[in-house]
Amino acid sequence: GTGGDAARRPVIDLSTVSFGYTSASVVEDASLTINSGEYVAVVGPNGSGKSTLMKLMLGLLRPDEGDARLFGEPAHQFDDGQRVGYVSQHASAAKEMPITVREVVKMGRFPHVGFGFLSADDWRIVDDALATVGMADFADRRITKLSGGQRQRAFIARALAGEADLLVLDEPTVGVDAESVEAFYALLESLNDDGITVLLIEHDLGAVTDHAARVVCLNREVYFDGPTDEFVHSDALARAFGTAVSFRGGGE
Ligand code: ADP
Repeated sequence: GTGGDAARRPVIDLSTVSFGYTSASVVEDASLTINSGEYVAVVGPNGSGKSTLMKLMLGLLRPDEGDARLFGEPAHQFDDGQRVGYVSQHASAAKEMPITVREVVKMGRFPHVGFGFLSADDWRIVDDALATVGMADFADRRITKLSGGQRQRAFIARALAGEADLLVLDEPTVGVDAESVEAFYALLESLNDDGITVLLIEHDLGAVTDHAARVVCLNREVYFDGPTDEFVHSDALARAFGTAVSFRGGGE
């Protein structure tokens, strides 16, 4: 999506960023800007540095060299965390929490209300978020009783309740049943149409080429950054993966 008429501004901005956990770098000289309203997928083989790149973008790691900015601020100093909705692969904490879907989504309001009670307006935002992700009928169900796809929707609703305008998803459909995967990507697309910036780390190349407008292909270095249709016809994929990779059923 293009984010409609919303003024474009940099959400994520990496400038010549390098990082290593040890002396060997796992991200080397990465520069890229993601503007508000974009839908960008990061692809690359296992161990290519995708999660590390995401942590650098979100300020969870600091670059050894170069500069990482989030909403225009140095990423590690960024403190408006509710603007960023993060959905991880397993949503593992959810498995332990004996609370309902509505209670999870309510947590999205906490940064807005401090330790106070939620107002009627806050609760309406919670219920709107549940409706947006198609989970209104499951509001009172325990999060532990949901399918993988429903659980991911609940976590997106929590981000929406927090008024996130950047959604970062790290392989969000791992563990989601096949029938629910397309609907999940359709939800991301409609959120993006509403102006939310989407950054998707994804191993399913078919999903990437079907849904993301822009692809960043990584293997320590950025091999490709551009429109998805150009990516499909480029040799970046083969170079980054070091092997021939097909877009449907391949790539793993
Ligand atoms: P991807 O997400 O593409 O699978 P990662 O960013 O997780 O790649 O990992 C990139 C490289 O960094 C891998 O070689 C991995 O083993 C290494 N790595 C990741 N996290 C750590 C860590 N916390 N400490 C040391 N090495 C790490």
